[in-house]
Amino acid sequence: MGVRRSFKFLLRPTSKQAASLAACLEDHRVLYNAALEHRRTAYRKAGVTVRYGDQSAELKHIRADDAEGQGRWSFSSQQATLRRLEKAFAAFFTRVREGRTPGFPRFKGRGWFDTVTWPKDGDGCRWDSQPEHPSTAYVRLQGIGHVRVHRHRPVRGRVKTISVKREGNRWYVILSCDDVPAEPLPQTGAAVGLDMGVASLATTSDGDPLDNPRHLAASAGRLAAAQRALARKKRGSRRRRKAVAWVAALHAKVRRQRQDYAHKQALALVAAYDLIVYEDLRIANMTRSAAGTIVQPGRNVAAKSGLNRSILDAGWGVFLRVLAHKAESAGRELIAVNPANTSRTCSRCGHCAKDNRLTQARFRCQACGHEAHADVNAAKNILRAGLALRGAAEAA
Ligand SMILES: [Zn+2]
Repeated sequence: MGVRRSFKFLLRPTSKQAASLAACLEDHRVLYNAALEHRRTAYRKAGVTVRYGDQSAELKHIRADDAEGQGRWSFSSQQATLRRLEKAFAAFFTRVREGRTPGFPRFKGRGWFDTVTWPKDGDGCRWDSQPEHPSTAYVRLQGIGHVRVHRHRPVRGRVKTISVKREGNRWYVILSCDDVPAEPLPQTGAAVGLDMGVASLATTSDGDPLDNPRHLAASAGRLAAAQRALARKKRGSRRRRKAVAWVAALHAKVRRQRQDYAHKQALALVAAYDLIVYEDLRIANMTRSAAGTIVQPGRNVAAKSGLNRSILDAGWGVFLRVLAHKAESAGRELIAVNPANTSRTCSRCGHCAKDNRLTQARFRCQACGHEAHADVNAAKNILRAGLALRGAAEAA
């Protein structure tokens, strides 16, 4: 069975190609903004909702009228850009329906639009366009040419979409592949439960804490300080622009460190265990509820957002996504269980009481006297719940 995966490689364009890549990205940005303007005007002036289909139909004329400009690029990548706008609007309307107050989809300034996607290999783009070169890979992009790719590892599966992304002054190609063969790991006969925490990312039922690394905490602290500094800068000032760039750079760094850490931890878990059970905390719901709604502007928002920030900082979302990916490609089983009562139930005798948990860290069963670290006790209950779920599924 194959899985979906993406591969990201550095591009090595000639200077002429680099100029074309910049022009391609800029034209797609202009198209995005024009399509957004079109939707806004139609809605404001006539109350008309413009849809993707309408805008896609107009592309033909736009391309014909601007053969040296928009007409140079792939029809399909332009359609993908319009679809991206459609998605932004769909997300906007979903949030409105949920009673929240989302920002209207925004115009993309230079530096805020960094990706062009060709939705199908072979349509305006071609991966490995010069296979006769034995050692160098190329990707052909319409209007740009055959661009050299630094392919530092082999591509597996079937290339589905091709994207080009600008990061700083570098260009990358991102291939999204289907049917990438899974690489099952040998069975270990071991299973584990994970108790997701705030202080540490998680604790395993074997008693190992997955601590958030120090350097990640340090970067997060620097990011918070940079954000406070940014808030003091005057709008439109040069200092503010610099501060914005600094915050963005720190954000990127924290994201990278969190990803690296998640990959490392997930890899270790997947190597050691056949079955991994975690709590289904509905992270998205927990973090969303703090914002409140228009009708009910959320009580305890301040206290809640403090906790929510810690939750987000702990990076569960990133970690679980990476874990799911790795588990799938290694042929491991991942089960989510209901977290209710896992922290107050005794993992030895099953006695469930609030008093069992004396402090945040210590667990002492009021019935059998079992003592344990509270997170390890919870992780054991989570593992048991997962095994029970699996047993029930196998019996059915
Ligand atoms: Zn007990």
